Amino acid sequence: MKIGTKVIHGGLTHDSATGAIMTPIYQTSTYAQNSPGDHKGYEYSRSQNPTRHALEMNLASIENGKHGLCFGSGLAAIDAVIKMLNPGDEAISTGDLYGGTYRIFTKIFEKYGIKFHFVEMNDFDKLDILVNENTKLIWVETPTNPMLNIIDIRKAAAFAKKHKCMLGVDNTFASPYLQNPLELGADIVMHSATKYLGGHSDVIMGALVVNDEEIAKQLYFIQNSSGAICGPMDAFLVLRGIKTLHLRMQRHSENGEKVAKFLDAHPAVDKVYWPGLKSHPNHEIAKTQMRDFGGMMSFTTVVDNYDAAKKIVSNVKVFTLAESLGGVESLCGHPASMTHAAIPKEDREKIGIKDSLIRLSVGVEDAEDLIADLKQAIEG
Ligand SMILES: *Cc1c(COP(=O)(O)O)cnc(C)c1O
Repeated sequence: MKIGTKVIHGGLTHDSATGAIMTPIYQTSTYAQNSPGDHKGYEYSRSQNPTRHALEMNLASIENGKHGLCFGSGLAAIDAVIKMLNPGDEAISTGDLYGGTYRIFTKIFEKYGIKFHFVEMNDFDKLDILVNENTKLIWVETPTNPMLNIIDIRKAAAFAKKHKCMLGVDNTFASPYLQNPLELGADIVMHSATKYLGGHSDVIMGALVVNDEEIAKQLYFIQNSSGAICGPMDAFLVLRGIKTLHLRMQRHSENGEKVAKFLDAHPAVDKVYWPGLKSHPNHEIAKTQMRDFGGMMSFTTVVDNYDAAKKIVSNVKVFTLAESLGGVESLCGHPASMTHAAIPKEDREKIGIKDSLIRLSVGVEDAEDLIADLKQAIEG
């Protein structure tokens, strides 16, 4: 089956009790048993819930994996991955990382004795020196936030295999429509389903998909033991969102291209970071592992200061100034004062986050309206 069929049917069956076409919302905490232990596979909704199970099967299908697991948020999914590690274990992660991921690694898990190294992953040969017998996990985010750097997942997988550790990929920015890390050699793929999978900015959820039975067993044990599950209503909403993932991602990518080209040609714009542009430093890698380039991008203006960015993000009318991404509506953000404000200015600028950098989550509206909106905001 191809992706457009899988998003609608993958891993799903019609409700056996009623034939309902859409997966019902099983809003129940527990299930009747005929005699002790004699039940229909469902005992208690922290352990199993039919709506969540349907979503987990569907996610496994669209990521070309065997096992899906859903959590109450993207960070709860990452939390479960790190709980597979033991005190003394080490992980190597991309430095250009979602702020919440950096926070849970350093502020929660370091105090349990897990060590994290944050590095640029453009040259894996240089990373050998960081690896030792305690290294258990390589964590990669690609495209990265907000600079849209692309990390070569095949190379990361070869590196992880060579050093006998797991490779986890945060696939939130790409979505399973644009990129399938398990096929490129990753062991774990993670999503903030809050973003493109849900797609309508109405739910917070996280997900993991894996192939390996042993990793799946450990993660299920953690999911059930720690209990950071998602509720059935949220599972229903994400199932519903996924049914149009392919249509939305096509439109996000088409609009992304039009907006990126408009910005790239505008005299007041300095740099545009969108992996589909030939000028993007990682465009060639992006072409080998992504089917298209999506709607996430960042840009700086020639006049590089906070006021220049503030003027644009305050003047937009179709775009909305807000955190988050991946919904049908276009959003914009100012990393230096919003998501990355905690990083000192010098360190920020080293990774490219200048004061005028604006991040866009280009939605699925009409591209002409989005371009006209940015034009008036930049020139106004
Ligand atoms: C939003 C996001 C997360 C965190 O997910 P939540 O659902 O907000 O917990 C992790 N990684 C990336 C890349 C994200 O954009």
